[in-house]
Amino acid sequence: MTDARVGVIIVAGGRGVRAGTAVPKQLVDLGGRTVLQRSVAAFDAHPAVATVVVVLPPDLLPEAPALVGPTRAVCLFAPGGTRRQDSVRAGLAAMPAEIAVILVHDAARPFVDAALIDRVIAAAERTGAVVPAVPARDTVKRVPAGRPLVTETIPRDEIWLAQTPQGFTREVLEAAVALGASGVEATDEAMLAEKAGRPVEVVPGDERNGKITTADDVMKAKQQFDTAPRVGTGYDLHRLVEGRTLVLAGEVLPFAAGPLGHSDGDVVCHALADAMFGAVGAGDIGQHFSNIDPRWKDIAGLDLLGRSVTLLAERGWRAANVDVTVILERPKLVPHLPAIRANLAAVLGLAVEQVSVKGKTNEGVDAVGRGEAIAAHAVALMVPGARP
Ligand code: MG
Repeated sequence: MTDARVGVIIVAGGRGVRAGTAVPKQLVDLGGRTVLQRSVAAFDAHPAVATVVVVLPPDLLPEAPALVGPTRAVCLFAPGGTRRQDSVRAGLAAMPAEIAVILVHDAARPFVDAALIDRVIAAAERTGAVVPAVPARDTVKRVPAGRPLVTETIPRDEIWLAQTPQGFTREVLEAAVALGASGVEATDEAMLAEKAGRPVEVVPGDERNGKITTADDVMKAKQQFDTAPRVGTGYDLHRLVEGRTLVLAGEVLPFAAGPLGHSDGDVVCHALADAMFGAVGAGDIGQHFSNIDPRWKDIAGLDLLGRSVTLLAERGWRAANVDVTVILERPKLVPHLPAIRANLAAVLGLAVEQVSVKGKTNEGVDAVGRGEAIAAHAVALMVPGARP
């Protein structure tokens, strides 16, 4: 691999709505670098790559250099089109004339590695067009649109699932792009090369080189990169009024007054849920369980905490340990602490030793000290992984 005249078109022109993320999926953070930055970095680190052209939605072009960051290779930008083939055409137009071999890569495949890039460059130089692919592992059925009946079982050993980077000599990619511009629809460039009558070589792809498409893909990719633990804090306070039940982590404390609130006012669960959401930058309980939503009227704190644990597990996080301080003048908390800790441990999927709950009074000072309110502080350490 001595030819340094390889260029890469990285297609990031789409909005990635299927991933259901607030930002376009190519800009989702994976452990400190975005999906796009990781895809660019994989090629930037390859010695044969001289130029990278990143195709972005036109509205993102003004910030494109900041979105990609510094690169060793020459990095250029082009505006994405409505269809993939329009984006690739724009990328090819921006590619310098001296580039002889051009790879086309989905930005949403940040796991591409040097060995796969090597295989694709070598085959592109050999054959003119190459697609990496992995064999289908499932049995494949043909089902006509609009009629859920199988018409054929396709022999599995003939089915290969195409990946990127796909590689082309400049001449073949130009022919493929010209065919796309003439009105031929295609889902990838190899398909256009096929339709242009060019031989397309298949090289082994990589099972790890998956495309980030769904919210589940985003979560799994985050888990792969996001391995550092995260810490968060939470705080809650409720006014104490007569006639309400005093509940802490699902444990009822016999007392004449209890917390006022839209929910049951369980300060332990509320502060803890906030600490867990805070640790992973996922907002707070008010954002996930609005206090004007009738579904959460009178919801038990322990139930709310359990739902928070599930939401966080879906994002790929679980608690490693938690520590809570409850500030309450009366009644005494100590007799109830074992039950409170056991309840929390069960919901969090932790051992009791990993769940700390401590009680304090406010020494008669301020509203909490006068017994007009109950408060709690919580700290949670979150680590990657689903609930145990
Ligand atoms: Mg609260």
